[in-house]
Amino acid sequence: MTVLEVAVPIPINKMFYYLPLSNVKLEDIIGRRVKVPFGKKVLTAYAISYINIKNINTLKLKRIIKIIDNDNLITEEAIKLSKYISENYVCSLGEALSSVIPTSMKPSKKISENKSTEKKVKHRKCILNTQQNNAVNSINKTLSKNVYSSFLIHGVTGSGKTEVYINAIEYALKQNRSTIMLIPDISLTTQFLDIITARFNKNIGIWHSGISNNEKYDLFLKAINGDVKIIIGARSAVFTPFKNLGLIIIDEEHEHTYKQVQKPSYDTREIAKWRCKYQNAVVILGSATPSLESYKDAIDKKINLIELNKRIDNKELPEVKVLTLENRTFKTSSFLPETIKAISKVLARKEQIIVFLNRRGYSSTLICRKCNSIYQCPRCSISMVFHKNPDLLKCHYCGNTEYLPAPCSVCKCKDVTIFGSGTQKIEDELKKLFKHARIFRLDSDTASSNKNYEKAYNGIKNEEYDILLGTQMVAKGFDFPKVSLVCIIDADTSLYIPDFKSIEKTFQLITQVAGRTGRGYAKGNVIVQTNYPQHYAIEYAKKHDFKSFYKIEIEQRKKLSYPPFCDIAKISIKNKKMEKVDEDSEKLFFSLKDLVIKYKLELEILGPVSAYIAKLNNIYRKYIIIKGDRNNILKLTEFLENFKQSVGTFIGIEIMPSDLI
Ligand code: ADP
Ligand code: ZN
Repeated sequence: MTVLEVAVPIPINKMFYYLPLSNVKLEDIIGRRVKVPFGKKVLTAYAISYINIKNINTLKLKRIIKIIDNDNLITEEAIKLSKYISENYVCSLGEALSSVIPTSMKPSKKISENKSTEKKVKHRKCILNTQQNNAVNSINKTLSKNVYSSFLIHGVTGSGKTEVYINAIEYALKQNRSTIMLIPDISLTTQFLDIITARFNKNIGIWHSGISNNEKYDLFLKAINGDVKIIIGARSAVFTPFKNLGLIIIDEEHEHTYKQVQKPSYDTREIAKWRCKYQNAVVILGSATPSLESYKDAIDKKINLIELNKRIDNKELPEVKVLTLENRTFKTSSFLPETIKAISKVLARKEQIIVFLNRRGYSSTLICRKCNSIYQCPRCSISMVFHKNPDLLKCHYCGNTEYLPAPCSVCKCKDVTIFGSGTQKIEDELKKLFKHARIFRLDSDTASSNKNYEKAYNGIKNEEYDILLGTQMVAKGFDFPKVSLVCIIDADTSLYIPDFKSIEKTFQLITQVAGRTGRGYAKGNVIVQTNYPQHYAIEYAKKHDFKSFYKIEIEQRKKLSYPPFCDIAKISIKNKKMEKVDEDSEKLFFSLKDLVIKYKLELEILGPVSAYIAKLNNIYRKYIIIKGDRNNILKLTEFLENFKQSVGTFIGIEIMPSDLI
């Protein structure tokens, strides 16, 4: 009797057995995704292998319902990689597979042309400078040896990292090997696609959340068959099933978007390293502000460090001016007088400006003039944000909206006012201050579709706009030569969030946004408005001094024992009932403590503490943090399976989370 071994994407780490379809050959089932009955549901699962069993009560086994795929998608590498993910990020093989080979992909009847091939852009081949040349040489040398190797390119903003990537891709192509080029944000797709298409013009694919399920299937297949050789994409593109991988490039490697928060909570950098080891390929991490983890790896010689410490053509790094925000009241402008003057000058010279504020909406809060209470989301423990046109209050965490006028949520009076600014308000202020300026606002309210990113990118590039205003979307990786001024409206939005990475993130963000200017012929200027001009994150960003910042910050991490000096896991305990969360998290905390003593594991158990947003979408949340060595952490989390929590309590584990809030 032949029985199929099927991995099902549910949190039970074992294989499930099903009967094959009787009229289909086994080789047309194994290696494909199948629909299976599971309990009362029908799930997409993975037919991994088969076994022959003599004495089995076949009556108890259910039959698969159908075969989804027309082709074998489940490669041997995919299975091994999924095992690695399942063992290192605490999930089942099926759950890991659902990331490696997405359940949502759909085979289509007709093969669609990948959109990227339609583009025709001119891109002149630069003559590399000495630093770039050395970088390319050392990367290509390792490529030629067909062995695993990893590089961290620490290159200041505008040092020409992209050109280094392109030359490495070119060399890999000559060896007939493929490249995965990862970018942190889909807003950068257009820019990279333009550059890469101009250089290689064919066999290029793009992969991100905006690509349809049919297109994804086609692309997946083309990658397996070698019909696509370069993939540009966000995090999940790291799983592109190339069989002759040469390179995985992770641009802006420090970005938190490379860490998946949901299960399986993988770190793209770790996956990239695993895959390159498996295929004897080369990993390149690139950033002007490397993560402390990667930079420490470079110092410890675990990764080869390449430094590009000069901008192209020896252009100067922008001059950063730090202005102190003082005595801000309800009515004052978000722009300090000096900032306004600077913008006027740049507009008069017909150059461009980026205005950055990491808060969307009109204003940050609605506040009661009588009792001073802030309007909170009834479902979450965080304030609602005021949005204009239509006027409403929105919760940025659960999506809850309430129409205005809203009375004070505490004393019910109508005497409420708005406080703090978001990008919508900045847009209004800019329009009033600079009547003739053409402004493009880019934040997740305007950029719901891919079209808007493209519009922003092309609009600025073709000088149809004078000011690009936005949230962190405007901070990353853009290369606009006409931008000669960057204004950071409030540098402090991330500084005092109670998290071990908030200072590092602030430094990265300021340096990155500042780096968007002075990339063309004009000298770049940056204005940083802040309440804390003396803070070292701001001081070192002003001086473009990553190394000094690193020295201070890494000491802090060491002193407080945080990554990269230990590994961590974040266990979240969630329930609609606050008492249950309290009860279960206490119980879990003490059982973990007991286990640590019983099995003599060198681990520190911290908590339980309420999440930064203690109630989210009516669900209360607490965390327990485990610190120590990764293997010990994984050993401990195995015991969690046996933990008996109350009805309705959800317990989640994130290994190496990108924050602890
Ligand atoms: P980074 O990613 O390091 O911030 P980019 O790769 O975007 O920098 O390069 C900045 C600009 O310099 C781009 O417009 C790029 O085309 C240009 N550039 C890169 N290398 C050279 C070179 N060797 N000669 C001339 N221009 C170059
Ligand atoms: Zn909410």
